[in-house]
Amino acid sequence: MRLPLVAGNWKMNLDLPKARELVANIRADLPAGPIELAVCPPSIYLFPMAKAIADTDLRLGAQDLYHEPNGAFTGEISANMVRETNATYAIIGHSERRHVIGHHEDDRMINLKVRAAQQAELVPILCVGETLAERQAEQTLDVLTYQLGAGLIGCELAGSALVIAYEPVWAIGTGQVATPEQAQEAHAHIRRELARLNGQAAAVRILYGGSVKPDNAREIMAQSDVDGGLVGGASLKADSFLAIARETLAAKSQ
Ligand code: PEP
Repeated sequence: MRLPLVAGNWKMNLDLPKARELVANIRADLPAGPIELAVCPPSIYLFPMAKAIADTDLRLGAQDLYHEPNGAFTGEISANMVRETNATYAIIGHSERRHVIGHHEDDRMINLKVRAAQQAELVPILCVGETLAERQAEQTLDVLTYQLGAGLIGCELAGSALVIAYEPVWAIGTGQVATPEQAQEAHAHIRRELARLNGQAAAVRILYGGSVKPDNAREIMAQSDVDGGLVGGASLKADSFLAIARETLAAKSQ
């Protein structure tokens, strides 16, 4: 039995008072039931958010980290620094880091980051997913195979050590969500690949990310290989984040 996880990726949004207000509203109405919720604020808000959730079951995650333990890497933060904030998770290889932000991370760099996160006893949420051109060229499953194989070299593949997020690039922040069938096909493929890589495939949680909203969450979360969501835009309001969590709980208890 995989405990569903709904993680909010705040990206570079909110200011500190609004972040505090969001967490206060989330913690005031946490769903009762077998589900885990996490918030992933900008790194500068990790410590204050850790304090804001300290006496709750809410988990904390970073949006990225740097793979070196220390040194002359201006502007970066290490896995151990993230761990010091009491974070549980670190998102690694988000499509905005792969495709949008200046240095365009490749799979080798992403692999180093996943390994660094695990060494610091953080659970990486490794994001994989195809672009629109790759989907149209029917390369989706090949892209997933490649990104998993390259991203997970030398990594711990136990269910407690790793979360995968399937995030089709064309669905992130676009309002265009994968159909439940597209999500299930990709998730089932990811699980097969994890088994092939000798992972504890049945125990690893695989989240769907890409324009998840309260009104589309239930159908997607009901798919057998979907174990929760990585939520961007809809995680910035407590109402929609909590509604997605409740839809996930409802889908998983059917
Ligand atoms: C994301 O940033 O991981 C994401 C899925 O964003 P959105 O929900 O806004 O599409």
